[in-house]
Amino acid sequence: MHNTLEWADIVIVGNGIAGLTTAVEARRFAPDTRIAIITEQCHPTINTPALKQFAIGRLTQEHLLAYPAGTERTQRIRMVNARVEEINAQDKFLGLRGGYTFGYGSLIIATGSRPNGLPAHLPGREFDGVLTLHRLQDYLDLLRRLDGVESAVVIGGGAHAIETVMSLLHHGVEVSWLIRGKSFLSHMLDHTASEMILENTRNAGAKIALKTELSGIVGRVGSVVGVITNHDKMIPCQLVLVCTGTSPVTTLAEHCTSPMMHGSGIYVDDQFRTSVRDIYAVGDVAARKDPQTGVYETRAQWYSAVLQGRSAAAVVTGHHELATQSMGVPWHATHVADLYMLTVGNPLRMLEGATIVTDHSKNKYCRMTVIGDRLVGYLSIGTAQPDSLAIKSIIDEGLSIRRIKKALLKGEFDARKYFSQRRSQAALDMVTSGKIPVVKPISYPMAPVRSFPVVAHHPSHAPIIAAQYGPAVHSSTTSVSTVSAIANMKTLHAETFDTSLVVLSSLADQPTMHDLERDTRPSTGNIAVPSRKDIESMLLPLPSRTVTRSLWSYSDKTPAVKARKSSFPPPEQRQSEKTNFLL
Ligand SMILES: Cc1cc2nc3c(=O)[nH]c(=O)nc-3n(C[C@H](O)[C@H](O)[C@H](O)COP(=O)(O)OP(=O)(O)OC[C@H]3O[C@@H](n4cnc5c(N)ncnc54)[C@H](O)[C@@H]3O)c2cc1C
Repeated sequence: MHNTLEWADIVIVGNGIAGLTTAVEARRFAPDTRIAIITEQCHPTINTPALKQFAIGRLTQEHLLAYPAGTERTQRIRMVNARVEEINAQDKFLGLRGGYTFGYGSLIIATGSRPNGLPAHLPGREFDGVLTLHRLQDYLDLLRRLDGVESAVVIGGGAHAIETVMSLLHHGVEVSWLIRGKSFLSHMLDHTASEMILENTRNAGAKIALKTELSGIVGRVGSVVGVITNHDKMIPCQLVLVCTGTSPVTTLAEHCTSPMMHGSGIYVDDQFRTSVRDIYAVGDVAARKDPQTGVYETRAQWYSAVLQGRSAAAVVTGHHELATQSMGVPWHATHVADLYMLTVGNPLRMLEGATIVTDHSKNKYCRMTVIGDRLVGYLSIGTAQPDSLAIKSIIDEGLSIRRIKKALLKGEFDARKYFSQRRSQAALDMVTSGKIPVVKPISYPMAPVRSFPVVAHHPSHAPIIAAQYGPAVHSSTTSVSTVSAIANMKTLHAETFDTSLVVLSSLADQPTMHDLERDTRPSTGNIAVPSRKDIESMLLPLPSRTVTRSLWSYSDKTPAVKARKSSFPPPEQRQSEKTNFLL
């Protein structure tokens, strides 16, 4: 080992939830081991998903602590506040900013993700009042400014953006929400699902502009006074809030003396080992193989970071048997105003031989991707909550849905009954306890990834489906213009579809995946109810070993919080102010 001033058996870079969970769990497994965290963050680990509650005044700064204050001290975790700049993998030490070094036995990279922000060349991005929301400091900055703000522009097409829109509405701020693509969460939701969520948000008071991006930001004496869109429209505002997704911080993989495999994330195996000996990666920065596609993907999600931290701690302390082998397909549950949204797997991804079935009624939509009698993707929007973990388990374990297909589609699936009948004690335990079981990887046919945003039953086949699932199953009428598109799509992708289903979309209609706008941070929480008068909210629980509630309870309603009364002048007055706006 290199002759460094300090060293530890286990060194963790980053004190986000993945880093601290790894340290705390490692202490549990190895009481006498030297554990250190080196982080550039200037505050203890916070519950980042709860920042949205903080933004609406539901939580104080103290409430944000992810672990009780002083945990690092009581757990004898050495905390070093510094930026790690490089890894010497041969001599096993880290180079810190300022020329210091720190030796390690095992190294865990938990450097998380950073916000994508605005393009570097965008005119006006430096004006005061342009905020990228990601860290605690950004939220403190936002809250300090809100008093003088009448209108704000939110940029981004993902969960973070909609949370921000709802928070601002709660504060009585007028919101214009600009989405670069033609839908909301375009990599997870199809057109129908996206429209339901957007409609809900419009009803809450937001002005939403799709296919709209910034051409520039206008300022006066250094402060933002408006934005110019790509449609040459000026939108006056005092705040521009940037929520354009995140990217994993892979800098240390690039600055390692041994080649460390990375791409969008640092590649790890099922035991969180990177391609370099004694170096592991966890949390937002770690990319594992997606069980359905075999492609390395990060999973930027709070609970996933917690589970990964626990598993990595078990591995580095020699308790391999306690490490979670696979976390199965991703799932994402959130609550937008009065609608629940759930995606399990990737509902838009087309795997070979897959068919899509949908059910749509007022305030309720379900879309399932099925191969044979196996469910591979699930999307649901509605006022009720499907059992997300049960559905995840069905996908992860490759269970037959032959008998429950209709119930799943209609949101009437009784998980307890199903798992009792299957005598699947592990799954039943999971459904009742909320614990995620170890998942045995199952093999899926690998096919090129394709996204088909708008899928519905072809009218001529609709009766067949309707007979199978009952009268409420959605079918759609087809316009002349879409018929040729259908013909094209059928020719292009005929092999992937059941004859009873067709794609009602042209290739040109498909949402483009904008890296900038792709919000890689799934949300497991409750987004503020869009009432000016009151707001119902939630608090994510602290990570604990015994999860006794279903993950849906992350969205449990807590007592209503009174929103600040809007200090807006009447609409007519605001309009005249806008038209007289001096630049
Ligand atoms: C505003 C916001 C809201 C969110 N809401 C939700 C939600 O509702 N549901 C959900 O599931 N997920 C949500 N997430 C995502 C979730 O919070 C993350 O997936 C999770 O916190 C990732 O934890 P992490 O420890 O991997 O990374 P991070 O929390 O990003 O921590 C990384 C740490 O590494 C440090 N670091 C980085 N590079 C270096 C270096 N070179 N040297 C030293 N230190 C370094 C950083 O300072 C930081 O302390 C949200 C995230 C944000 C930002």
